[in-house]
Amino acid sequence: MDILNEFENIGDATHIEKKFVISNKQHDQIELDQINKDREILKIVLSHYAIRNNFQFHVKSFCHREYLVACLDKNYSWMMRASRNGQTSQFIIRRLGDTHTCDLELRFKYQRQATATIIADIIKNKYTNIKTKYTVADIIRDMKHDYKVQLKYNKTWRSMEKVQEIVRGSNVSFKVGEDGCFLYVFVALNASMKGWPHCIPVVIIDGTFLKSAHRGTLFVAATQDAGGKIFPLEFTVVNSENDESWDWFLTSSDMLID
Ligand SMILES: [Zn+2]
Repeated sequence: MDILNEFENIGDATHIEKKFVISNKQHDQIELDQINKDREILKIVLSHYAIRNNFQFHVKSFCHREYLVACLDKNYSWMMRASRNGQTSQFIIRRLGDTHTCDLELRFKYQRQATATIIADIIKNKYTNIKTKYTVADIIRDMKHDYKVQLKYNKTWRSMEKVQEIVRGSNVSFKVGEDGCFLYVFVALNASMKGWPHCIPVVIIDGTFLKSAHRGTLFVAATQDAGGKIFPLEFTVVNSENDESWDWFLTSSDMLID
């Protein structure tokens, strides 16, 4: 290939775009010839796209070679067909109908593409600041305002739980006595759980009295990181130090540390 030809190829926007592989779930376009990293990425990108553009689709075919979807109405005015790129895992959009003749009522009814996982993906940035309170009612209101999507309470609750698992991912449990009073609380932060596999496989446990107004005892499990620094794993506050409270702390820890 001579220099002039190569230059023309670089200047040809569609040529470059065809070679671009979509791997970002937040990618905001669905276009003919679009190359997606795999079928899963295409499915997520398409779900986001449908929510943003206020339509719903049926899956007609979803196998290892083909992904075929069509608009929810009977005319299939909008459809998309993607298939595998040779022996790679990539999926290329081969056909795309881009006009909708479907009923408005159908388009704004409960959005089937708005699954708990997809909503979780849309709202996750709201939870990066631990001080921000973003409730189920807030999610329902914002999804309706921003995407015209009407959500049911249960699904919204599940999506909120998913986000908290993704963003914070910490493990917290507590126990109350028969009289309903506080007995124990156990906390293992996400950062600790993620860090543990990279630490020295020795766990040190200890307990100390709490001198604040609420009293009780603090149990801590720690280890050492690769640099020899103390790395906290878990902590528990119990009413007092005894066999039962130690047992609860160690059983709770055991479920997380293998
Ligand atoms: Zn349509």
